Amino acid sequence: MHELALAQAVVMTLIEEASKRSLNNINAEVVVGELQSIDMEIFEYNLNELKELVYQERKIKINIRIVREEAKFRCNRCGYTWRLSDLPITEDAKEAIHFIPEAAHSYIQCPRCGSRDFEIISGRGVYVRLI
Ligand SMILES: [Zn+2]
Repeated sequence: MHELALAQAVVMTLIEEASKRSLNNINAEVVVGELQSIDMEIFEYNLNELKELVYQERKIKINIRIVREEAKFRCNRCGYTWRLSDLPITEDAKEAIHFIPEAAHSYIQCPRCGSRDFEIISGRGVYVRLI
């Protein structure tokens, strides 16, 4: 259900942009953070269904490219930045972090200074940009 709601939000945003600019053809990139827990197959399927519906009903053609954004972290103590894939963490920990990004603080520490005081600087949420 989560995937469908997300796909609807994306398509609604694009319809709004298209009508603001009087376009009947719109190209967009949907950026999905690595930490966003969604089923990409279902999400893509829902997007395709909605795109088709929009084309039939409003004659607006939507082209979407889905891009996954890598998760990155920055240490608040020493300033070091790193990626999720740089860390030797277990699959269980990875799964927990995908469900609740805040859980990252229980499983991850700065690879340089060991601090658990860090920020998630990318890889969260979903956003849309026109291309
Ligand atoms: Zn550090």
